[in-house]
Amino acid sequence: MLNLILFGPPGSGKGTQAEKLIEKYGILHISTGDLFRYEMGNNTPLGLEAKSYMAKGELVPDEVTIGMLKNKVNANPHVSGIIFDGFPRTIAQAQALDSFLNEKNTQVTALVALDVPEDELVSRLLNRGKSSGRADDNDEAIIRNRIAVYKSETAQVFDYYSATGKSKLIPGVGSIEDIFSRLVTAIDEAC
Ligand code: AMP
Repeated sequence: MLNLILFGPPGSGKGTQAEKLIEKYGILHISTGDLFRYEMGNNTPLGLEAKSYMAKGELVPDEVTIGMLKNKVNANPHVSGIIFDGFPRTIAQAQALDSFLNEKNTQVTALVALDVPEDELVSRLLNRGKSSGRADDNDEAIIRNRIAVYKSETAQVFDYYSATGKSKLIPGVGSIEDIFSRLVTAIDEAC
């Protein structure tokens, strides 16, 4: 299985690139942010629980997030690979993912991280907020908090997978096509 972690701070272009990658590799896309927004839209207990964290730009607790992720993977047993987008965001999530994949006799193939300067992230997110309808994209303080949470809780996941040589840093500025071809080169090297 091709198990890719598409990594990077909020606004780094993971969603855009994930769409292109699933087309090229024919694998399943799992975005935990999208899953939470779906649950919220349907007012499920899980959605209601996630809502207060998302509104502040905080992380939803690990147990909730990991449980939801496992359900989604288990619901799709016959896929040839998965792009994990926005997951794992903590070391505990990364460890849970590793043991979960291990139980299925597979493992993370590579983590590809999009590298984008902070000012660019903020302006991209504010711009996206005009059309995305996402409350967490509309307020600069919440955006800055999401970036701060990324630095304090999520960035270490890059180092965690560096220890096994799986992390690759990709410049995330330029045209969508240029960034995509950098990603493809890095992924094909890892396979
Ligand atoms: P995203 O769409 O990836 O930017 O995620 C939007 C929000 O959903 C985040 O700010 C968090 O509140 C929540 N979220 C998404 N993925 C995770 C995760 N792996 N762990 C915890 N919270 C998450």
